[in-house]
Amino acid sequence: MSATLTPAQAAARMVDSLGVEALAKAQAYTTGNHWMLLWGVVVSVVVAFVMVRLRLLDRIAARFANPARFWATYAVSAAFLLISAVLALPWTIYSDWHRERAYGLSSQPLGDFLGQQAIGEAISVVLVGLFLVGVYALIRKAGRRWWLWSGGLAGVMTLLGLLAGPPLIEPLFNDYQPVPPGEVRTALERIADDVGIPHDRIFMYDGSRQSDRFTANVSGIGPSARIAIADVALKEASLAEVRAVTGHEAGHYKLGHVWRYAVIFPLLAMVFFFLLDRLFAPTARLLGSDARLDEPRGLPVFAVVGSVLGLLVTPLTNTLTRIGETEADLYSLRTVNEPDALASALVKTAEYRYPRPSPLEEVLFYTHPSVEKRALMAMEWKAAHPAPAGPAAPAQP
Ligand SMILES: [Zn+2]
Repeated sequence: MSATLTPAQAAARMVDSLGVEALAKAQAYTTGNHWMLLWGVVVSVVVAFVMVRLRLLDRIAARFANPARFWATYAVSAAFLLISAVLALPWTIYSDWHRERAYGLSSQPLGDFLGQQAIGEAISVVLVGLFLVGVYALIRKAGRRWWLWSGGLAGVMTLLGLLAGPPLIEPLFNDYQPVPPGEVRTALERIADDVGIPHDRIFMYDGSRQSDRFTANVSGIGPSARIAIADVALKEASLAEVRAVTGHEAGHYKLGHVWRYAVIFPLLAMVFFFLLDRLFAPTARLLGSDARLDEPRGLPVFAVVGSVLGLLVTPLTNTLTRIGETEADLYSLRTVNEPDALASALVKTAEYRYPRPSPLEEVLFYTHPSVEKRALMAMEWKAAHPAPAGPAAPAQP
């Protein structure tokens, strides 16, 4: 085999090594995901339409003498969240459970999936329910600039979520354990020292419970920040791959990406509330709802505007996350310097993220740059930073 492949040839060869069949399957899965975004909006419109036509929330709201009181707003908001989840359940089971299993990406039993959905829904009824009470209080009391204040409230909720996520919410879904002593742990501790993460904040978790995806992540802020690697990745990766992947996650942490999103999300929420203020009345007419903006029984209208705007903003948020992913890859290359292992680890994620999308597909739908592009960057890094050739190599300037 020739040792003088160009970086582009090396990256292409890595992707080709997956085989025609696996690539075709990954492409079918990924393209299907893009269509599912659109179908998801259709489902939420249908759910909202059913709720409006059957006057489900109107009947609950009518039971309260003063609809502006805390409990009245909370009860209608909670009912909205629960009824939407129940009406959309067949779609959720198909898209998040059946389809993942059909593509061999999950082996979770239906009972466990539904149990976890119920936990997620209970958390949402508490947290999103309280958030909606806050938004309606602002709509009623803050005057024309309610959208500005509501964006600020979204910012507060984001920070609380980031703080509470790792210690309180994530353990409800997965079991987080320290990485056992050994060469993997030693390597991870070295990377953690480098970015200032305490050793007791490096975890492995049973990601295989939900999914067979090769993955790792960093979450939380301040004292709750932590790095976690799924058991799937630990089992399937070499030591060099674990180092390369952890270097990537450490990059997200060190470069403060979570803060970037903590600023951007409330700004997007502000734009959303501003547009909701303008779009509520015409959307309500289209759905046949007589609710006003300040009435929680109008939440189905709220949801339709939210899901359509959410779809439209996806290319923007995807572009932001793609930039962060490239930065994290570069961080891994610079600090851990395992270009081959980074590329080979990335190729393992290609089964759920087709590695060769068209440029338009990548811009619109990809939260991460394509695997082939990322492998290419690793190979270009390698070409530009050749490993020292033994003891005779000159010292680095
Ligand atoms: Zn990443």
